[in-house]
Amino acid sequence: MASGDMVGAIAMSEPGAGSDLQAVKTTALRKGGGYVVNGSKTFITNGWNCDLVIVVAKTDPAKGAKGRASSSWTRRCRASPRASA
Ligand SMILES: Cc1cc2nc3c(=O)[nH]c(=O)nc-3n(C[C@H](O)[C@H](O)[C@H](O)COP(=O)(O)OP(=O)(O)OC[C@H]3O[C@@H](n4cnc5c(N)ncnc54)[C@H](O)[C@@H]3O)c2cc1C
Repeated sequence: MASGDMVGAIAMSEPGAGSDLQAVKTTALRKGGGYVVNGSKTFITNGWNCDLVIVVAKTDPAKGAKGRASSSWTRRCRASPRASA
């Protein structure tokens, strides 16, 4: 990222969660050897054209704020020209 070869983003804000990150509703639940991520994010700078995104999600919603974790995904997340129009 420092060389400019990769664009990064951090996805915290959601339609119902801004300053108050306890309100995050996105979940990242273990399935098999990975995670299934479900939720919505908004106002994410570089979200549409990043190579790496750090996503704040709840891995254990029953634990409230203590069930929160951040994970990074290096999967390419650049939107297709049609999706970003
Ligand atoms: C140009 C832009 C780029 C952004 N990029 C990103 C990004 O890359 N990633 C990302 O995750 N988010 C991003 N955001 C979202 C931004 O971080 C949120 O707008 C921010 O977290 C505030 O959330 P909110 O707008 O829902 O306001 P709210 O959380 O609803 O807060 C509203 C107001 O109340 C105040 N407030 C809230 N709680 C308290 C409290 N307990 N005590 C006193 N005052 C309080 C706040 O300071 C604010 O002034 C971006 C926003 C903009 C405008």
